[in-house]
Amino acid sequence: MDSPRCSYCGAPLEVTPDSVVAVCRYCGRPNFLLGNPAEVLAVPTLSSSEIVKKAVERTKKDLNLRWRMSAINFTSPDLYYLPFYFVDVSLNADYRATVAVTYTKTVYVRGQPRTETVTKVVKVAGRVSLSDVVAVLARRAPWGLSADALAKHFFDTAPEPKPLTDVAAQSPGTFLAAEITPERAKAKAVRSLIPRLLARVEEDAAARAREAVGVLTAAASVLDKTVDYEVARLEASRLTYLPLWVMTYLYNGSHYRYYLAGWDGKVVVAEEPAFAEHRAASLLGAMAAGGVLGGLGYALYHADLFASTVALTAGAVFSYLAAGGLLRSRRVEK
Ligand SMILES: [Zn+2]
Repeated sequence: MDSPRCSYCGAPLEVTPDSVVAVCRYCGRPNFLLGNPAEVLAVPTLSSSEIVKKAVERTKKDLNLRWRMSAINFTSPDLYYLPFYFVDVSLNADYRATVAVTYTKTVYVRGQPRTETVTKVVKVAGRVSLSDVVAVLARRAPWGLSADALAKHFFDTAPEPKPLTDVAAQSPGTFLAAEITPERAKAKAVRSLIPRLLARVEEDAAARAREAVGVLTAAASVLDKTVDYEVARLEASRLTYLPLWVMTYLYNGSHYRYYLAGWDGKVVVAEEPAFAEHRAASLLGAMAAGGVLGGLGYALYHADLFASTVALTAGAVFSYLAAGGLLRSRRVEK
């Protein structure tokens, strides 16, 4: 089979298996290789030179790196567009639980006070809810902390997504293909909220059990529980591309990376060398300040954080997504 050609000028396109959009080297027009681009959104990015400027500014402000500016060499940054679904989830859990409530009371034995520990087992039932917007990276392989940090920064700053066709026309980056369907993104989003919902069940059951016993300061532990889940709301946004710049710098013979959000140039994750002054600091301090907190290194130590979903507080974020027309259906809530 022939390699794909530009639909505008007919020149051969350089296409990787991952490509969603291939920008023609000859005429500069974007060619869409997968799906319907009219359905897809993307956040516009700053230019490569603006990103370099942001990275240098960041380095000059960095407490550890600013002393070493002359020893740092930056390479030109690479732009990746990461595909996300933003999933609006609302879950209810109806539960029954058996809770052991333990407290101490003072009893008088022949006029002498004595502390006695009392344990009561009570059965409680209740309902808790959890609503959130979850960013789900539409890729099978995780991108580590950088994708999570990028999505969080998107929620914090709410840049406006535009149609992919407009953004791709002026952007040199690689648009990574979405590898999971919206349905799968929804399932991932629900799954990512279950631990938090269960934590709420435990809290609620403990509170009800303390109340039933009448000792609000008692220790309560859930012995067993049954939970029925109900998905009250589950909507995925259109596929939305967020621009992530990866900028490598060389220091003292090793490479480190900055990960920058394309729309404002904020460094969302910075890998840094572990300098001598950190080794003298406490372990925790060194982890926070040194390279361990960076991209991939950190993920190796905290495999459970190496997830492709980020859950964030909904409120403002969701109203933004809804107002921006990101979601096909609108809902009206009391
Ligand atoms: Zn062309």
